[in-house]
Amino acid sequence: MSDCIFCKIAAGDIPCNKVYEDEHVVAFHDIRPIAPVHFLIIPKLHVASLAECGPEHTALLGHIMTLVPKLAHEQGLAHGFKTGINTGRGGGQEVFHLHVHVFGHKA
Ligand code: AMP
Ligand code: ZN
Repeated sequence: MSDCIFCKIAAGDIPCNKVYEDEHVVAFHDIRPIAPVHFLIIPKLHVASLAECGPEHTALLGHIMTLVPKLAHEQGLAHGFKTGINTGRGGGQEVFHLHVHVFGHKA
C-alpha cells in the first residue's frame, strides 16, 4: 500500500525508533506513548486490521503474539504489560495497518 505509513516504516522509507525486526515483522516505539514504555508490533505484510485477518494469517498472528512477551521483557516490562489491538473506526483504529500495542511501566 503506497500511502500506508506503517508500510513505509516496514520498508524503511520512514524512520522509526526500532525495537525489533525480522523477516515478517517490525516493532518500534509509539510516537505518542500512553505509558513510559509503549511500542507497536506490525507485520511487514499490509493487512488493514484484525477484521481483515483469516486462516491464512494464523501463523503471522501467532508469531506476533509470541513476540509480545519476549519484546516486553527486553523493554523492561518485567512485571507485566498491557496489549491492545484497535480494530475499525468503532474500535478507535487510526492507522489502518494491523498493529499490536504493548505498553506498561518498567519494573
Ligand atoms: P491506533 O490505530 O488507534 O491503534 O493507533 C495508531 C498508533 O500509531 C498511535 O498510538 C500513534 O501514536 C502511532 N503512530 C502513528 N504514526 C506513527 C509513527 N510514524 N511512528 C510511531 N508510531 C506512530
Ligand atoms: Zn500498510
